[in-house]
Amino acid sequence: MPQPGDRHPGFVAQPGECWALVNSKQLQATHCREEPTYTGRWYSPRDDGRYWRVWSCPDHLEGLTGIREFGATGTSKFLPPNHMPSSGTSGRDRYQT
Ligand SMILES: [Zn+2]
Repeated sequence: MPQPGDRHPGFVAQPGECWALVNSKQLQATHCREEPTYTGRWYSPRDDGRYWRVWSCPDHLEGLTGIREFGATGTSKFLPPNHMPSSGTSGRDRYQT
């Protein structure tokens, strides 16, 4: 039996809206009302390579790939600090002693 608050088998791909649908008290599909702070990709379960970019609150990240947090300026958890392209790998400009 579906319960209020259960995840509904569906989603929305709408900027600023959590992608999850949940059952309302009347057991009808309704938006998750949490504020989304992540974006990610939801790949089609048919495995045909299609995907949708969706927005998600922290509770509904399961099943998404390529998850990125946004809104938290300067506190990215997904890139190490000093993530700079390496330089000087050609060796041509290296000085010999
Ligand atoms: Zn949500």
